[in-house]
Amino acid sequence: MTQESTEYLLQVHELKKYYPVRGGLLQRRVGDVKAVDNISLDLKRGETFGLVGESGCGKSTAGRTITRLFKPTAGSITFEGKDITKLRGSELRSLRQDIQMVFQDPYASLNPRQMVGSVVSEPLVNYGYGSEAKLKDEVMQLLERVGLPADAYYKYPHEFSGGQRQRIGIARALALKPKLIVADEPVSALDVSVQSQVLNLLKELQEEFNLTLLFIAHDLSVVKHMSDRIGVMYLGNLVEVADAEDIYRDPKHPYTQALISAIPQPDPRKKSDRIILSGDVPSPQNPPTGCPFHPRCPKAMPECSADKPQLKEVNRDHRVSCLLYE
Ligand code: SF4
Repeated sequence: MTQESTEYLLQVHELKKYYPVRGGLLQRRVGDVKAVDNISLDLKRGETFGLVGESGCGKSTAGRTITRLFKPTAGSITFEGKDITKLRGSELRSLRQDIQMVFQDPYASLNPRQMVGSVVSEPLVNYGYGSEAKLKDEVMQLLERVGLPADAYYKYPHEFSGGQRQRIGIARALALKPKLIVADEPVSALDVSVQSQVLNLLKELQEEFNLTLLFIAHDLSVVKHMSDRIGVMYLGNLVEVADAEDIYRDPKHPYTQALISAIPQPDPRKKSDRIILSGDVPSPQNPPTGCPFHPRCPKAMPECSADKPQLKEVNRDHRVSCLLYE
């Protein structure tokens, strides 16, 4: 293993996930939906990397492709120094022990007819961990650790609130002691009052279990409290990557600037300079030429519709894809 790969748990290089679009009588391939279009990012061991962007920007597809729930169209994914891009069969199954997901809708991701004890122990059973008594003991401890009552083991998911169901989802994801958890909008379906409790729990568990987190969200204010570094996605592309503090203090990309300007101010007397973006996110089946953000960018220049900017380092560890910085 190289020194570089020991610092990074996960390295994603020029990852693409396209979906073919078929048309005509013969259902020939007439184009592609470019859900993820050439993204590169690295996750250091033990860090939280926040991946943000509006709905439909490709962040969830990126998360599922990185975990190999989806098959990549191109590019490479390296986990612990090993290329996992094309893993299949038993090797892919074995990878699932190290990489787990927490989903947005905890209810949809839990089997309503399974008791919680069975839901959480299922991954352990599937991978042949320990005797029945040992499993039960372990699952009881996990449920307690995520803040659920002891009798949760014998109850069904519908008997719990949204926040509690997400705790069940988290316990299940933790069962195999993974190294990486990809949390896809884990709190966006929850009441605001419950969101911070679940976020705090994730943070505590991250320390305790030495987890690396890829935290996907549409809301920059949620990501802020969780992330060491942040990547901003727009139309399948990563447009800015930097330390969380840098991104909030000095956002470079006009899209990031607009997202940050939309975060509500804690002090209502403070004037908000909100940047309102015109139009909607274009279709990833027919993305604009040049910079994908140019039809909505308040700082667009004539060359922006022709030249596609690359993600380049503008400050230390701060990368931006915008022609203003080239
Ligand atoms: Fe705006 Fe041009 Fe920069 Fe794209 S390249 S973000 S259109 S200024």
